[in-house]
Amino acid sequence: MSEFPATKLTKINRIPERGSYERAVIYPIIDEALICHVGFEVDGQPIIIPTIHARLDDMLYLHGAKASRMLKHIAVGHPVCVAFTLLDGIIFARSLFEHSLRYRSVVAFGSGGLLENAEEKLAALRVISEHVWPGRWQEARLPNAKELDATSIAAVQITKASAKVQDGFPTDAVGDLALPVWAGVIPIQFQAGEPIPDPQLPAGLPFPEYLKRNPR
Ligand SMILES: Cc1cc2nc3c(=O)[nH]c(=O)nc-3n(C[C@H](O)[C@H](O)[C@H](O)COP(=O)(O)OP(=O)(O)OC[C@H]3O[C@@H](n4cnc5c(N)ncnc54)[C@H](O)[C@@H]3O)c2cc1C
Repeated sequence: MSEFPATKLTKINRIPERGSYERAVIYPIIDEALICHVGFEVDGQPIIIPTIHARLDDMLYLHGAKASRMLKHIAVGHPVCVAFTLLDGIIFARSLFEHSLRYRSVVAFGSGGLLENAEEKLAALRVISEHVWPGRWQEARLPNAKELDATSIAAVQITKASAKVQDGFPTDAVGDLALPVWAGVIPIQFQAGEPIPDPQLPAGLPFPEYLKRNPR
């Protein structure tokens, strides 16, 4: 895997040693994130929309209703900036000033358009479905022609991207190290909880094996 170019737009200014432009660092973060935040500008007004995503090589797939302003924006070739954030912990320092978070994040830039062909749309929906929970595509009823028509799917080519990873400990000033204040990290995990069956589920329907394999 190669690197994205470090351009003026993606140059990490603060604490650059935590940054990376390597696809090998960036892609696992995008793939582990269940959602992303898509930023775009309409008439000078910045807008950020949280949404589901999936990635295949340098292509990012976003889907939604035909009326989605974000998807209409992408449809006409306007650029987007997409942020992916994984929170790994809270860093407790002796001083409030040095408190921080453990995280892995990506900021990606690109543009693209909407998929028009039904076959391409289905293939992209499969990538999105498999990203959210591998195996679901095999069990659920697949979209019919009417549902497919009601769904817009944007393919955004990632042209620039950066990652930033904070996996350290507090960086208190030497003069604070002897303070009787607990310091360290409380890890934060994003994980699936106990399944809650739909009250309308027919009695006796077994919980499928693939849903027991937590992808996150
Ligand atoms: C969960 C979380 C919480 C954070 N909390 C704070 C906070 O409270 N205060 C604070 O100052 N900073 C915080 N940060 C860090 C913040 O995201 C920026 O990295 C930081 O503000 C310094 O930005 P900059 O001025 O170097 O970059 P900018 O000049 O703003 O950005 C230049 C380019 O650097 C890249 N870049 C910048 N930040 C990131 C990033 N996090 N991930 C990937 N690429 C990036 C992008 O390509 C961007 O276009 C947090 C980060 C995360 C993930």
